[in-house]
Amino acid sequence: MKLSKALVLQAKATFGTPTYLYDETVLRSSFNELRDALPDCVDIFYALKVNPNLSLVKLIRSYGGNTEVCSLGELEIALKAGVPAQDIIFLGPYKKPEEHRRALEVGVFAIVVESETELRKLSALAGELGCDAPVAIRINPNFSAAGSPWKMGGRPTHFGIQEDTAVEHFAEYLALPNIKVKGIHVYNGTKILDAQSVYDNAAYILDLFRSLSQRYQLDMRMVDVGGGLGIKYYENEKELDTAQLKALLTPLFNAFHQQFPRTRIILESGRFIAGKCGSLLVTVDTIKDNHGKTFAVTDGGTHCHGAAAGSGQVLKRNFRIVKVTGTSDAPLREYHISGPLCTPDDLLGRDVQIETLEEGDLLAVTASGAYGPSASPTLFHSHGHPAEVLVSHDQLFLVRARQTALEIRDSHADVPLEAMLGAGTVAGSVAAAQVATQRQLSDILRVVLNLSADTLIDADSRLRDDLGLDSLTSMELLISLEDELEGFFVNPDTITPGHFNTVASLAGYIDAHRQTQAVRHSTEAVEVHHERV
Ligand SMILES: *Cc1c(COP(=O)(O)O)cnc(C)c1O
Repeated sequence: MKLSKALVLQAKATFGTPTYLYDETVLRSSFNELRDALPDCVDIFYALKVNPNLSLVKLIRSYGGNTEVCSLGELEIALKAGVPAQDIIFLGPYKKPEEHRRALEVGVFAIVVESETELRKLSALAGELGCDAPVAIRINPNFSAAGSPWKMGGRPTHFGIQEDTAVEHFAEYLALPNIKVKGIHVYNGTKILDAQSVYDNAAYILDLFRSLSQRYQLDMRMVDVGGGLGIKYYENEKELDTAQLKALLTPLFNAFHQQFPRTRIILESGRFIAGKCGSLLVTVDTIKDNHGKTFAVTDGGTHCHGAAAGSGQVLKRNFRIVKVTGTSDAPLREYHISGPLCTPDDLLGRDVQIETLEEGDLLAVTASGAYGPSASPTLFHSHGHPAEVLVSHDQLFLVRARQTALEIRDSHADVPLEAMLGAGTVAGSVAAAQVATQRQLSDILRVVLNLSADTLIDADSRLRDDLGLDSLTSMELLISLEDELEGFFVNPDTITPGHFNTVASLAGYIDAHRQTQAVRHSTEAVEVHHERV
């Protein structure tokens, strides 16, 4: 961590802990280090799964990054961050029909297709929509990246179409109606720290592109060589040598670019760009000895930072943890640094050698900007998502609010007990529908009344007194409700001022109105059925 101690302490004082703290200077320098290691003909695509924080995505875009998304949520974030659709690719081994649809609607650069089933589905959907789907075929190659401890390709995985099949069937893919094959994609592994492995991987993929182009006489517009560049986490690791990377990759990509000047060369990266800029701040609450070990119990654990706690790894090694408070000349001592979860493996670090700790000390788990909350079980124990704060130009910005206990509570549907115990299935589903309506209504109210995302809106919130609805915004609200809620129309004869008292009363009106429609539909269906009989 390079940030000044005063700023880090200010972040804790202002936002509490556990909190992720991102340093814009480091984010920028990491991006630029990668940019400098690549020739201009290569485009960098930031993988949102690593850290989808809207503010980080905006910054990365401003440095010249494009984005790679794997869900509707990630796609919407990228679009909101101002990334043009032509600088977005959408991938993932399963995509919902609405994800395909939205990707086509907004016009992403390519949908990376991971199976022949997906290709056929996309072909049919694009036909329905009357467009051509721009696709890249994800290939699981007969080659695995030697330097990756976490291999996604070159072995049985649920990613992509295996190389031999893809090569044999490529002509069929090209012939599918409403499919425009733009190129190929390979992503082989992550955490690669060896420049030669990155080179070998990229060289293999460019050769595969060449041979496909030759065999089928193609002029494809995209080749995605994956990426998976690593950063140093543990004592025994060495940072990726970006000078060596540059020396190896520049001639490789430049030669390819000369041969295929119209082909966009894509390199994906997440960890390398976002990893180093972030630290997880946690506060030591308790220090105690337990069966021969000294434990420092903190307020942040696996639920904030699964990777530091070693989730998914066989060998648990420690991320570097630094003590922010106190003096740095205190003698070193050894601690198990734990979180608050009721599971014995909730350890941010084992046998950590660190300056003597005291209760109340602030610690920073470094190199935590990648795969932090986005890859952690944030709802374990219903603790929720930690806060995220960005430091830029010596200013602190809350870039994601801490999830509150009430938000977590209210994300559960509150089905009446009697209904669940069988006192009437209809009552149960009606209750669930009410909850759903109240949530939709809250979202619409936030937009119409321009309320911030953390304004508490619950069933009892009063529209006028608590939320500031007035006669003008009432009209706007009704219009929005009709726009947003399928099958809902305001009936001036039935709506009364009383319906505008609280969220619950207005939701009740909406539900009553929508239910009559549902009933009307089902009665119509029954009548039709009778006629047929
Ligand atoms: C996870 C992933 C990335 C990002 O990997 P990093 O190693 O974090 O750079 C890029 N592309 C694909 C397809 C991925 O699955």
